[in-house]
Order: sequence, then structure tokens, then C-alpha cells
Amino acid sequence: MNNADLIQRDLAAIWHPCSQMKDHEWLPMTPIKRGEGVWLEDFDGNRYIDAISSWWVNIFGHANPRINAALRQQMEDLEHVILSGFTHYSAIELAERLIKLTPEGLNRCFYADNGSSAVEVALKMSFHYWYNTGQNKKKRFINLSNSYHGETLGALAMGDVALYKEIYAELLLEPITVASPDCFYRDEGESEEAYSRRMFVQMEQTLEQHADEVCAVIIEPLIQCAGNMRMYHPVYLELLREACDRHNVHLIADEVAVGFGRTGTLFACEQADITPDFMCLSKGLTGGYLPLSVTMTTDKIYDAFYDDYNTLKAFLHSHSYTGNALACRAALATLDIFEQDNVIESNRHLARHMQQATTHFAEHPNVAEVRQTGMVLAIEMVKDKKSREPFPWQERRGLTVYRHALKHQALLRPLGNVIYFMPPYVISTDEIDHLAEVAWQGIQLACE
Ligand SMILES: *Cc1c(COP(=O)(O)O)cnc(C)c1O
Repeated sequence: MNNADLIQRDLAAIWHPCSQMKDHEWLPMTPIKRGEGVWLEDFDGNRYIDAISSWWVNIFGHANPRINAALRQQMEDLEHVILSGFTHYSAIELAERLIKLTPEGLNRCFYADNGSSAVEVALKMSFHYWYNTGQNKKKRFINLSNSYHGETLGALAMGDVALYKEIYAELLLEPITVASPDCFYRDEGESEEAYSRRMFVQMEQTLEQHADEVCAVIIEPLIQCAGNMRMYHPVYLELLREACDRHNVHLIADEVAVGFGRTGTLFACEQADITPDFMCLSKGLTGGYLPLSVTMTTDKIYDAFYDDYNTLKAFLHSHSYTGNALACRAALATLDIFEQDNVIESNRHLARHMQQATTHFAEHPNVAEVRQTGMVLAIEMVKDKKSREPFPWQERRGLTVYRHALKHQALLRPLGNVIYFMPPYVISTDEIDHLAEVAWQGIQLACE
């Protein structure tokens, strides 16, 4: 088997996600044979550093021996069982450990099997909570511009990235959209904190005006990842928590992408010292092994559904693979690694190295900004550095970087004109240096 054979078979049978399939007439896909640590190897023997953690899910490397061992053991005992009326050890153990690790007060764990579903669960639970407590005027949600919460219809509606959403607009719920605190747009000389505070004024006004009809505010804490890795200051979360309480509106923290150490703390909410009413987790939860998600919530929410059957207050949402045993076991092995290896601390070192390896990018005539939050570093290419006028999207400059990287042992998959590193935490400093070198060359090529 080689790349060419597999590509041919693939193109005859598979419809790929997030792809215009016609691109593959000239843009070959890459069939991967095996992975080890940060490395992926294709069927022709080429190797690539997985700089984007295979869409932000992998945190401890491919084919991690410890996660592999845990899965083998789980497979011997139980692969899956219905989670209604039945339960299993790994689901219980995982829920207990997540309750201990997530912000104080998140004492209930509802399982689903992907990030979008975790968001759907939070939306439905929030609406249903207000319904169960007699406040049936609350039917709407507040989101931020440039946000992303997944692609099933409910989650898609809460996002604001036109590329994914625009065509389906007529099918979707209509949230009330507040301008994002995205610090790319702060004034020259203005601090991120000052800008985040300034942008919060609009959120406060919207809450004041609409709180009676609003169930929840949904946000991605600290980084709008799919929205081109745009970042903001934790003070926004602090202010938002206080305002949601004051206006009697829930706060949904979608930590699907930023959870599990990405922002420098285990959960991004920790940096603002807040407890949301709902916290959605997925992606890194299983170390990038298996689809699993959880929506964590409080006793207060849980109690509003807890009643005699005939009151019909129960939350009936379910997915066939809810709380899958193999996925839960992979998640437990992932948490073990966090516990045993002092990951958050050693990531600080890696994050500093990413910063040092890319400081010179800021001087590039087509780089508007190099920004970083923990283990996410993003480089924004623009047509004009001074005015920050973007390259027209039709020019697909990021794709030049992608193709250059593939020829030089790196999987970098820019978001539009934003090149970013979001590597597994097992990357070495030498490998980071290699990524920086390849990205630099790629940017030179793309901006010619
Ligand atoms: C990826 C992502 C989702 C959706 O998760 P899926 O598992 O792809 O459905 C939701 N929210 C955020 C912030 C994400 O990055």
C-alpha cells in the first residue's frame, strides 16, 4: 500500500469534513499509516509533526503507551453499555474526578459523545431549567461575534463564523450577538485588560435589555479558536459571571477546545476564578483517542429536574454512545498523565519556548500580530501591516503555508490567514524550533 493507491480508493468512497472535495484534484490528501508522539507517518514513509494536535484533540501524543495500556485493559472488561438504568466503573470514576478538577460547584456530569452535543445539552438544559422553574419567557441565548460552538444546528446557531453558518441561516435559532472582546481590535497602546473591560459594556447593556427573555450567555473562555485564534483577557469572564448572576441568566463556558491545559491552566475559567453554570468539555478529554464529551453543571440546575416521574421534569436527552466505556477509560488515563507528570508546569516551559522561537515574526512586513495564550500561539498574516487590511480570502494564502509545511515535515493547517501552533504537550523544544522555521519560510512564500 502506498499513498497514491489509498488516495485513489479514498476519493472513490469518502466525503471528507471541512473540505471542498474538488480541491483534491490538485491538492493531494495525506493517508496516515501510523502515529507516535507528535509524529505522523504516511504510507510513503514521509513524517509530519502534528502541530495542530489533529484538530486540537491530541494532548499526549499519538499511540501513547499509557493510554494504549488502559484501553487494552478496558477492552477486556467492557467496551460499552447503555447508561440509562445501567452504569459502569469508568464512567463513575471519571465523573468523580472531573467534579474534583473542574471549578468548585460543578457537581454533576452529563455525558455525550462530541463537543457539539455537549453544547446542545447545555442549551437544552438551560432552557429546560427556566421552564421547570416557571420562567417560560426565557427562550433566547446571547453569544459573541466571531464565536464557534460546533456544527449541529443548535450549536451552529450559537456560533458566528459566517463560513460555516451563513448558508444555513434560515434553519437556525437566532441568538442575540454581542461584539467579541477580541483583542486584535484594541487601540494602539491599549492593554488587553482595558479593551476587554471596554467591550464588556456592550454585554452589560444587552443583559440589561434582554435578561427577561434570555436563558444563557454562551462563550469560549479566553480564546475563540475556530474564529482565527482570537484572544481576550480573563477580566471579561469575571465581569460576565457577576453580570449573569445579577441578571439571573446562566453562563455556559464552552471549554471544548481550551480545556485540559491549553490556556496554561487546566481549565480556562480558572484564570478568572469563576464557576460557570455549565461547562462543556470534549476534544482533549480523551487525550485525542475517542469521541466523548461532558456537560458539567451545578446541583442547583440538577435539582430543578429532580422530581416525581409524573411531573415530566426529567431531562430526556440521550445519545447511543453516551458515556462509552472505552472513551471514559481513555479519559481516565489522560487525567492520570496530568496527575503524574506535572504537565501544567512543564507546559509553561514549552509555551515560553514557542514564544521565543517566534518573537521575530512580529517584525515580518505581513504579520500584524503574534499572540499567545498558554499552548496556543497564532500568527496573523495581513496584506498591509499598518492598516491591518487582510489578504482577500479568495487568495488562500494560508494554503501556501500548509503545502510548504507538508513538504517539510509539519502539519500546519492555518485558519484562513492565521498560522498557529497548538501542539501535543509532548513536543520537544527542537521540534518547536522546526515548526517555527517551517512557518517562517511558509509565510515568506505565501506573502510573495
Ligand atoms: C470543536 C469545538 C466544538 C465542537 O466539537 P465537535 O466535537 O467538533 O462537535 C464546540 N466548541 C468549540 C469551542 C470547539 O472548538
